[in-house]
Amino acid sequence: MNFQPTDMQQQIAQVIRDFGKTHIQPHVIEWDESQTFPAELFKKLGALGLMGVLVPEEYGGSGLGYLEYVTVISEIARFCGAIGLSVAAHNSLCTGHILQFGNEAQKQKYLPKLATGEWIGAWGLTEPNTGSDAMNMKCTARKEGNEWVLNGTKCWITHGKSGNVAVVIARTGALRDSHGMSTFVVERGTPGFSGGKKENKLGMRASETAEMIFDNCRIPEENMLGKEGDGFIQSMKVLDGGRISIAALSLGIAKGAYDAALKYSQERHQFDQPISNFQGISFKLADMHTQIAAAELLTLQAADMKNKHLPMTQQAAMAKYYASEVAVSTANDAVQIFGGYGYTKDFPVEKYYRDAKLCTIGEGTSEIQKIVIAREALKK
Ligand SMILES: Cc1cc2nc3c(=O)[nH]c(=O)nc-3n(C[C@H](O)[C@H](O)[C@H](O)COP(=O)(O)OP(=O)(O)OC[C@H]3O[C@@H](n4cnc5c(N)ncnc54)[C@H](O)[C@@H]3O)c2cc1C
Repeated sequence: MNFQPTDMQQQIAQVIRDFGKTHIQPHVIEWDESQTFPAELFKKLGALGLMGVLVPEEYGGSGLGYLEYVTVISEIARFCGAIGLSVAAHNSLCTGHILQFGNEAQKQKYLPKLATGEWIGAWGLTEPNTGSDAMNMKCTARKEGNEWVLNGTKCWITHGKSGNVAVVIARTGALRDSHGMSTFVVERGTPGFSGGKKENKLGMRASETAEMIFDNCRIPEENMLGKEGDGFIQSMKVLDGGRISIAALSLGIAKGAYDAALKYSQERHQFDQPISNFQGISFKLADMHTQIAAAELLTLQAADMKNKHLPMTQQAAMAKYYASEVAVSTANDAVQIFGGYGYTKDFPVEKYYRDAKLCTIGEGTSEIQKIVIAREALKK
């Protein structure tokens, strides 16, 4: 196993650092305060090839692998977790689902627009009463002639209002039947499809999170992704990849918080010396540094296995679980190292602290990751 970043990963990181300094960093506080979803930024990210990282070049994407994808999401998240979350949801959920399960006509139709950032994608699994228990979903799709009619509400959807196209999982069979759900592509502007309430969130505030409402929304039968009854199983496979993105997102947030705390600990003087001289502070830095390195290795392991098409459900869950908890603890320690200043919006660590918490919740909570990890362990 090669532990060093490849030339390509280093180049990608440099491109994002240059881009982020000009196009993300100056706006982070303003977007966060006003909960602005900067739709235009995603077109610029698309021009850099960052909206279709895993999409083959023949469909307008960058044709890169999961190791490079981890670099993309973590480097963006160092600047802003919310932008990292939106790029991750677009790439690995909506675009990733069409890439993995779409037929040739669907790939030709949707991937070029998504990969270039011309269109922003959404992915709807979660409902008001079914989050972790997604198999119990109530949103239905009923066949009428050569159309499907969707009814119900999806909630907590990244780009639920602004997405130009959504991949939606709905019930087409019996409750609690893992083959009772199917996947559909629904374009914005389809009658009966609207965005609902936008959430006012603790963190990740520049990433839009909103309801998607389906009220007798009719879509042509060719908009089904894969076979009828495969929706839930497809979603679990999409989430295996999605969990690598949340692990990468967590890594970026943790690295951003650590970098800020390391620098501040050398600049801030108390008792006539830098606070980094105090063992209570330097041991925190040692723990943060070690845990970030461990989280990175788990994330790269899952990414490497995904590239090699090896079964990686357990590795993706371990990476997501560990990296997200590390992001929360690192951001917490960073605020502590900044003292009172860390509790203000004059310094970046309070935002890392708020953003990090999403990572232990979205795309399966830490508790659900532990269920997945244990289930896989007990299978063996
Ligand atoms: C900012 C944001 C963006 C999101 N984006 C999307 C998106 O784009 N698309 C989408 O479909 N969803 C999205 N989600 C939804 C997200 O995936 C869910 O919030 C998550 O899966 C948890 O579901 P829940 O919120 O309903 O919590 P619940 O499932 O109600 O869980 C509540 C608590 O109970 C625990 N719990 C539940 N079941 C068990 C169990 N069996 N054993 C032990 N503990 C358990 C959970 O771990 C949690 O602590 C997003 C959420 C957020 C906050």
